[in-house]
Amino acid sequence: MFLRIDKLPIELPTPKKIDPESAAAVQELMGGRFGEMSTFNNYFTQSMNMRSKRQLGPFYELVANIAAEELGHIQIVGAAINALLNGPPEGKDQDDDVTGTPISKVTDEVNTYMAAHFIAGGRNALPVDSGGMPWTGQYVFSSGNLILDLLHNFFLENAARTNKLRVYQMTKDPAAREMLGYLFVRGGVHAAAYAKALEKLTGVRMSDMLPIPKIGNEVFPEAKKYMDMASHTKLYRLSPADYQNLSAIWDGEAPEGGQCQVVDGPPDTMGDHIELDGISSAFAPEYHPQEIFEMAQKLYRKSKG
Ligand code: MN
Ligand code: MN
Repeated sequence: MFLRIDKLPIELPTPKKIDPESAAAVQELMGGRFGEMSTFNNYFTQSMNMRSKRQLGPFYELVANIAAEELGHIQIVGAAINALLNGPPEGKDQDDDVTGTPISKVTDEVNTYMAAHFIAGGRNALPVDSGGMPWTGQYVFSSGNLILDLLHNFFLENAARTNKLRVYQMTKDPAAREMLGYLFVRGGVHAAAYAKALEKLTGVRMSDMLPIPKIGNEVFPEAKKYMDMASHTKLYRLSPADYQNLSAIWDGEAPEGGQCQVVDGPPDTMGDHIELDGISSAFAPEYHPQEIFEMAQKLYRKSKG
C-alpha cells in the first residue's frame, strides 16, 4: 500500500527561462535505463517478489522502503522537466496564438529539443529517455537471488549517479541543478545502504569502492547544501508503522562522514508543487479554460459545505 503526500521532496527554485534543451537532457533521469522510473520499478518489483520476507527482515525492508523514496524522485525529476519547459510563471494564460506557430517561438533558438514535449505532451514531462524512447520493463532486474539483486541495485545507484553527473554538466538551470544536487546526496545514501547490506551478507567491503565515479558530492554546491543538512546520513522511514528494522543495516559511519541515522517520516525539505500557468495555444488545460475553472470552484464550495 502507498499513502500520498501532496508535496515535492524539495522546493525547486524558479527556472531562469524556458529551456527545452535542458529538459530533453533531464528526460534521461526520468525514463532512461538508469533513471528514477528504473530505480523505483527495480526496488518495487524486487520487494514484491522477495521470498521469505519475514525471515529476511531488514534486507527486505531496505529494498521496500527505498522503493517508496524513489517514487518521490520520479516526481522531482518530472517537476524539474516541467520547470524547464515552462520557464518562470507569467501569472496569466500564455500565448493564445492558436493559428500561428507559437511553439516555434520556443524552439527556434535551440539545437536539441524533444518535439514530443510539445506534441504528445502540453509542455510537460514524459516517461521517456533523452532520445524519446519509452521507459521499458526490460530495465528491471529481479532475479530472486538476494545477493545478486542487491549487487544489481548497488550498480544501478552508481550508474544513475554517473548519468546525473553528466546531466549536471549539460545544464546551468537552477531548478535542474537543485534537483540534481538533492539526488546526488540521496543516491549516495542508497548506494551506501546497498553496500552495507552486501557487507553484512558477504563480508566484502563494498563501501571501499564509493564514490563511483571518484568525485565527492561536496564538490557540487547544490549537493553540499543538503550535506550541510546531514541528508547524506539519513535514511527516511517512509511508513507510519512498518520497516522498524532499517537501522540493522543503516548504522555505523556514513561514507561521506557522520553517523548513519534512520529518520521517521518524509524529509523535512519538502516543498510545494510548481504552479504551471495554462497555455491556451497548447489547449492545456483547455483553449478557454474558464468554464472548467468555474466548475472546479463550485465543487470546492460544495466540499467545504
Ligand atoms: Mn533516486
Ligand atoms: Mn536511489
